[in-house]
Amino acid sequence: MPIIVQKFGGTSVADAEKIRRAAARVIKAVKNSFQVVVVASARGKQTDELIADALEVNPNPPKRELDQLLSTGEIQTVSLFAMALAAAGYDAISFTGGQIRMMTDSVHTKARIISIGADRIHKQLDKGKIVLVAGFQGIDEDGNITTLGRGGSDTTAVAIATALGAEECEIYTDVDGIHTTDPWIFKTAAKIDQISYDEMLELSSLGAGVMHTRAVEFGKKYGVKIHVRSSIEETKGTIITHEVPQMEGVVVSGATVQKDMAKIGLVGVDNKPGNAAKIFSRLAKAKVVVNDIVQTEISTEKANLSFMIGISDLSAAKEAVEQVKDEVNCERVFIRDDIAEISVVGVGMRTHYGVAEKMFGALAEAEVNIDSITTSEIRISCIVDKDQAEQALTAVSIAFELDKPAQERTK
Ligand code: ADP
Ligand code: ASP
Ligand code: MG
Repeated sequence: MPIIVQKFGGTSVADAEKIRRAAARVIKAVKNSFQVVVVASARGKQTDELIADALEVNPNPPKRELDQLLSTGEIQTVSLFAMALAAAGYDAISFTGGQIRMMTDSVHTKARIISIGADRIHKQLDKGKIVLVAGFQGIDEDGNITTLGRGGSDTTAVAIATALGAEECEIYTDVDGIHTTDPWIFKTAAKIDQISYDEMLELSSLGAGVMHTRAVEFGKKYGVKIHVRSSIEETKGTIITHEVPQMEGVVVSGATVQKDMAKIGLVGVDNKPGNAAKIFSRLAKAKVVVNDIVQTEISTEKANLSFMIGISDLSAAKEAVEQVKDEVNCERVFIRDDIAEISVVGVGMRTHYGVAEKMFGALAEAEVNIDSITTSEIRISCIVDKDQAEQALTAVSIAFELDKPAQERTK
């Protein structure tokens, strides 16, 4: 029998009624002769609430304990889900990440999957059971519970689909598919029927939280068909796959906003060999992921250096910079956590001119100040004030006609 993995996000299992509705989706797949594995997230905003609980008792909670706490959200969902299926007359069994040997490294709060014990799942499926697995969590070789980073249940689902050789991985969420930009911000954003792994990787790594970036990486590496769709409507959503026709002609495929970032600048660092290496090796030791590094020579003696990090790494990054700043003779450190990054993305940018001009023009017209700009051959990103982020995203979306399907845009 073919296997399907169905993943339900937090809003799709927020209360009893929604869990019953999700269970009905599972039952439908069973009736269509699939063996079903369900991956579920914590209900509603529970992960945020658990983080707030942790911060209330300790502003800098030990990460191992944070993982131990956060993992409980998903465990609650899968056991409730299994109860709902049992109430409907279906045999279901729920597991924690550890129980199915979801082995990860030991990097708490952003662990990476190493392997999955598929046999335990197969055994239960072969007994005719629906298997439910708590998303977002794993276990390291010493038996510590780990979590995969915010939004990580998508990665659990795609990884399980890979390990089981599933036909498809369905991601049920609160939007009807992937859009050109966040449809809650730009209401008329066009829905995309099919998107390539590469393009989705760009969008999600730049802030399109609808898919966890590592889930897309997994999908690409192992060729898993991913279908992102609504948990409320029965409509077809977006397929993420290798081959997407027409991609070459599309200049901009989407726009993103990332609000959970901070910028650190080191002003007046000694301009001599080895200083950048010193700074970034200290950050690497602190396991801080760094993006958009900019270094500029301001005189023969001095240079300025800045980089972006995720806000959850801010205290670790601050500490690392504090330790190294005297060593590199840095005059001043500045930190901004009130910023957002707006990006336009598209493989077609490689061969088209005028994209930068259009983006900066749209931001100017919307009276949004640009703090800094970074580009690659397939994206342009601008740092803006956080309180202008939505205004900026809307202006850029209008300028690039992201309310229209790609083939109907003027350029
Ligand atoms: P879930 O709890 O189901 O995992 P998420 O909140 O993680 O849901 O992801 C869905 C959200 O992603 C949407 O509600 C939407 O706000 C956001 N989003 C950001 N960019 C996009 C996009 N390009 N297309 C669709 N949704 C997007
Ligand atoms: N519950 C986790 C989070 O809120 C994981 C997920 O939803 O995918 O980030
Ligand atoms: Mg999510």
